[in-house]
Amino acid sequence: MILGKCPYCDDGSIEVRDKEVSGKKVKLYACTNAHWKTEDGEVFELRDDATCEFRIWQNALAKYGKWLTYKEVRELLE
Ligand SMILES: [Zn+2]
Repeated sequence: MILGKCPYCDDGSIEVRDKEVSGKKVKLYACTNAHWKTEDGEVFELRDDATCEFRIWQNALAKYGKWLTYKEVRELLE
């Protein structure tokens, strides 16, 4: 699913990726031009073919008791 245009690069879109971090399912909102060798939530090393590194974790604000919804990410991207 695409949520909007990437704010970092010209031709990227922000897509939803299903991830599992420490046994919990979490959504990663990332640019279609962004690819990492590992996406386990701790170490992010860009792959050679990645041209962008934009990403937002759905639980980025979890310590404030908040999970980002699709709608909020869409609004952030505008
Ligand atoms: Zn991008």
